[in-house]
Amino acid sequence: MNLSDGIGDDGMSQRPIYMDNNSTTRVDPRVVEAILPFLSEEYGNASSVTHHFGQRAGSAVESAREQVARLLTCNSKEIVFTSGATESNNLALFGVTKHAAAGSHVIVNAAEHKAILDPAKQLERDGFQLTVLPVSNHGTVEPASVAAAIQHNTVLVSAMFANNEVGSINPIEEIGSICRDANVLFHTDATQAVGKVPINLEELPVDLLSLSAHKMYGPKGIGALFVRRKSPRLRLQPIIYGGGHEMRLRSGTLAVHQIVGLGKACQQCGDMMDEEFAQTFELTSQLRNKLESCVPNVIFNGHPVNRIPGNLHATFEGVNSDALMNKLKDIVAVSSGSACTTADPEPSHVLLAMGIDEELIDSSIRFGLGRFNTAKEVDAVIDAVARFVPQLRQMAPLG
Ligand code: PMP
Repeated sequence: MNLSDGIGDDGMSQRPIYMDNNSTTRVDPRVVEAILPFLSEEYGNASSVTHHFGQRAGSAVESAREQVARLLTCNSKEIVFTSGATESNNLALFGVTKHAAAGSHVIVNAAEHKAILDPAKQLERDGFQLTVLPVSNHGTVEPASVAAAIQHNTVLVSAMFANNEVGSINPIEEIGSICRDANVLFHTDATQAVGKVPINLEELPVDLLSLSAHKMYGPKGIGALFVRRKSPRLRLQPIIYGGGHEMRLRSGTLAVHQIVGLGKACQQCGDMMDEEFAQTFELTSQLRNKLESCVPNVIFNGHPVNRIPGNLHATFEGVNSDALMNKLKDIVAVSSGSACTTADPEPSHVLLAMGIDEELIDSSIRFGLGRFNTAKEVDAVIDAVARFVPQLRQMAPLG
């Protein structure tokens, strides 16, 4: 099986190289294989416990729940399947605040994904008090700013594990400890981190954690929310009612094939983590170092050390990113920001929060490397960028 995306055995590019893995990932062929029986002969409803079909579907769901729990070192009873990280984030924010006193306080930060910022703004409209913390110029949250923002009526802090645009990892353990000491629940949107870096929920002081299969070589439309059951045992209110599935937290017939895919993706990420981390880290370093030496005036954004492997966010001064992506489009698929907000013509709220000026934001591109990228692809991308950036600079010289 040829697992390389862009370059065929003959060295010719068949399709553009895929380097937009922070947006979504290709479903691993081994995950597809695990899913297929649940789209054909294994069609039982996981809730139909009275017959063979339902029992087989139910046991596949529970095996997948175990696989997710094993990756995160938690109890499988703490895993609630959802339709993805957007829903998990909504369940965390609305589920915690639904039984909180009117006017309770919630803390998020300016670099969060819209799947946190939008529900947080809705909470504010619903009468909750909202603090949106500023972030550092690396896009990270300062633990001291969380400590300073906590009030007597704070019920929840949410801080993402890793940023989807610039790849910076937040000091999750420190933020979680601050919340625990203050008796405040802590949620982390770990969509970009799960499967890429080790996460041990037996040790991490995290109460709620969101994840999504399509960022880790699983299918779209399936995710999960970790809800801690012990010390503390969380009381969460559902946001979707209708049958009491998923421990009464998320009703609706379970998407067995999707869940099986998420489970398999988790198992594979766990099995391959060290090797995959090293490989992706190496390819990303190669891309960064060669770009730095071949292309003048390039800036790399995000935390220099605390980063997820695979993400490289680069600013090519004096070059419009749309023009560059247009030149690159037959060679490599990259992105100029979060795919989830690219319908929005506004400059990235994450880069603005990091204090990057708008002209530089318009000159920035996100490379997202992943499991299926190769050194040959990285070289092809470097060649193309090194060719097009000077051309575009010549057309629009720096003022
Ligand atoms: N949070 C983060 C950090 C993300 O990167 C994404 C996907 N771009 C989401 C949430 C939304 O995830 P989903 O597509 O599974 O709803």
